[in-house]
Amino acid sequence: MSPLEPIRYHSTRNAGLTVQISQAIAAGLAPDGGLYVPEVLPAIDPAAFDPHGSLADTAATLLAPFFAGDALADALPAICAEAFTFDAPLRSLSSHPNTMMLELFHGPTSAFKDFGARFLAACLRRLPRTDARPLTILVATSGDTGAAVAAAFHRQPGVRVVILYPDGLVSPRQAHQLGCFGDNVSALRVAGRFDDCQRMVKAALNDASLQAELPLSSANSISLGRLLPQMSYYAHAALGWWREHGTPLNFIVPTGNLGNALACLWVREMGLPVGDVRLACNANATLPEFFQGQNYSPREAVATLANAMDVGAPSNFERLLWTWRNDDDELRHALRAESVDDDAICATVLQHARGQGEVVCPHTATALALRDRAAPREDHPWAVVATAHPAKFETVLEPLLGHPMAVPPALATMLERPAKAEAMAATDEALERWLREHARGSTGSRS
Ligand SMILES: *Cc1c(COP(=O)(O)O)cnc(C)c1O
Repeated sequence: MSPLEPIRYHSTRNAGLTVQISQAIAAGLAPDGGLYVPEVLPAIDPAAFDPHGSLADTAATLLAPFFAGDALADALPAICAEAFTFDAPLRSLSSHPNTMMLELFHGPTSAFKDFGARFLAACLRRLPRTDARPLTILVATSGDTGAAVAAAFHRQPGVRVVILYPDGLVSPRQAHQLGCFGDNVSALRVAGRFDDCQRMVKAALNDASLQAELPLSSANSISLGRLLPQMSYYAHAALGWWREHGTPLNFIVPTGNLGNALACLWVREMGLPVGDVRLACNANATLPEFFQGQNYSPREAVATLANAMDVGAPSNFERLLWTWRNDDDELRHALRAESVDDDAICATVLQHARGQGEVVCPHTATALALRDRAAPREDHPWAVVATAHPAKFETVLEPLLGHPMAVPPALATMLERPAKAEAMAATDEALERWLREHARGSTGSRS
């Protein structure tokens, strides 16, 4: 293989200022408020991949061009091996010929956020820090991200994780997961909504005097350290399918902030055998309306049964537009998006549970509903992306199904541990006061 050309990264809002991937991962957000993107998406030959390789091997080959010339380049195979210790199986669905489930919920917290959070943690562990004081990582979560980030950094020396979640608006099992880590992880249940949590985190990060007292960072989904690794399971599934069948694989992706779907699209842009991509949204219809030809109009989110997708202003839209050179019409030709409301989520869950005993989470149900609707291209092989294990959403699903669900072992272990979360008012001052009071709090070296 020829040596890889280093790729530089710049903000979606300013192509002039470039950084290396390590810097982009350490910073999360670009200084001008934009999102980091690579100056080009590298092309890659399907023949570059080992046909017998694991998911971690596929990830190391796929991501090598993105890390070429960077301080983390040599460690990339080890980072992938450390992050991807579980599989993303592509399983066929007996009810539909030509329909597969790409199961992304076999990680420690039973949702796909584990892939990105673990990869980000494995990168940050290897980056030199100039500040000897512990780093506090702030995470606002609507449910799944907080647990994945907590699990990825739990007991890591020199790092403390502070999770903010909207009290009463995550499922009871999600809340238990968030509060069960202890040690260097603190959970704060905020008397407000997800948007309040996100605003409080941003205010703390932007407060220079607070930052001077305790170094703060974030682990939100806009970090390239979470986005890039999510490309791995799409490449792995599509390459496996293509070797066996000689055709591209098409994907339906449950979508909120657009991180998971964008990863799929970038794999296609790199030249790997990904076919059609459909975005499945819940009643938050910002993206479906844009793809139907209306102007992009971000708005407040409404609450739905697929709570991790309750997003009215998808943060990765800026990266999506950049990928299509800011040409709305070209972008509208490249993919489609549809809304699935709560009634359709319930109907889809019930229909598949009764028919085949196939129980899916409410998020996965949005994608499965689109597959059921998809009269055109019936002959296409579709992979429905299963983003979380259904047992995380027992309060939605068990009343519908009329019986309890089996809990996967990793989740069961967490549910057995005691959980605790501190209540907090939904004000920026409340978080800042708490952080100052806990500036000398526990880190991974103590408990
Ligand atoms: C986060 C999440 C989504 C949405 O993913 P995005 O990358 O934000 O589009 C979908 N389903 C589940 C279960 C999630 O946790």
